Amino acid sequence: MKKKTKLIHGGIVGDEQTGAVSTPIYQVSTYKQNGVGNFKYEYSRTGNPTREALEALIRDLEGGYAGFAFSSGMAAISAVMTLFNSGSHIIVTDDVYGGTYRLMSKIINRSGIDVTFIDTSNPKEVTDEIQENTVAIFIETPTNPLLKITDIRSIGEIARKHSLLFIVDNTFSTPYWQNPMTLGADIVLHSATKYLGGHSDVVAGVAVVKNEKLAKEMHFIQNSVGGILGPHDSWLLMRGMKTLGLRMEQTEKTAKAIVQFLETRNDINTIYYPGLSSHRGHQTHVNQSNGFGGMISFDVGSGKRAQEVLQKTKLFTLAESLGAVESLISLPAKMTHASIPKERRKELGITDGLIRISVGIEDTEDLLVDLRDALDIE
Ligand SMILES: *Cc1c(COP(=O)(O)O)cnc(C)c1O
Repeated sequence: MKKKTKLIHGGIVGDEQTGAVSTPIYQVSTYKQNGVGNFKYEYSRTGNPTREALEALIRDLEGGYAGFAFSSGMAAISAVMTLFNSGSHIIVTDDVYGGTYRLMSKIINRSGIDVTFIDTSNPKEVTDEIQENTVAIFIETPTNPLLKITDIRSIGEIARKHSLLFIVDNTFSTPYWQNPMTLGADIVLHSATKYLGGHSDVVAGVAVVKNEKLAKEMHFIQNSVGGILGPHDSWLLMRGMKTLGLRMEQTEKTAKAIVQFLETRNDINTIYYPGLSSHRGHQTHVNQSNGFGGMISFDVGSGKRAQEVLQKTKLFTLAESLGAVESLISLPAKMTHASIPKERRKELGITDGLIRISVGIEDTEDLLVDLRDALDIE
């Protein structure tokens, strides 16, 4: 089955009881037992048919053994982090999502888990960082907002050689374009709030694991810690995911046109987009993904000019988050990355004039005109 077909026919489709074509919202907490201990479902934290349909769908899309749905991307990441015991060490991509950085450096450390943040785009740095108590490598590729690329296969090989668990946050590429599990990942995570949901109307997270052993552990954690996704949000997410392919194709087309347009201008300093052959890691990305996604960052020279552009766009909405049907525009230095000290931001390349856009599915020409008008203002 190709991806677009899998999005419609993957997982558990419809409802056996009624023949309903769309999976019903089983808005229920507990279930009648046919005798003590004789039941299909017991309690909805443990299992719910609507959530299970979603979990089966994401499992099929990522090609794993089992999927798990949580109340947010951070809840999914937190659940995975509880796989590790105190005294463990984990290696993490240095420019991971800010919330992940906060979780790892301010919460997980309380449980005696030591985290090192390094540039995982350089596999040698990863090897050098492995210690006796290292248990896992956690990466994100491409990253936010500079779209840095890590070679999933290379890190997968390092993880296998040292018997480490290899975790990939695949939010930016989505399973439509990139399947880390086929490249060596053991666990794939998503903030489903972004492209999977795709409509700025649900906060959710998913995790997919590679084998039965991890599936048992993750279900034990999901049921014990309890950060599950509710039936209604599970249904909304599945509804959004059906059009993931169409949305990603349209986004890809427009993103390429926008990058081409930005390249023609002499008032843009640097453009960050994995599809540019000049982008660092471009070839690596091509080797592991089938598309470049809808995130583009570019530097307009100064914070003042960036703010002017943000004020002028009409179709690009000034907002955090990404991956939805509507195009969004943001200023990382003042918004998503404001908590990072200026000096550190500079080291990372997140300048005051860096604008980040998340390309939506509006008409390509309309978006180009909107951006041109905003950039043309003196
Ligand atoms: C948004 C995001 C998260 C966190 O997900 P929430 O759904 O907001 O909790 C994690 N990783 C990446 C890459 C994200 O963009």
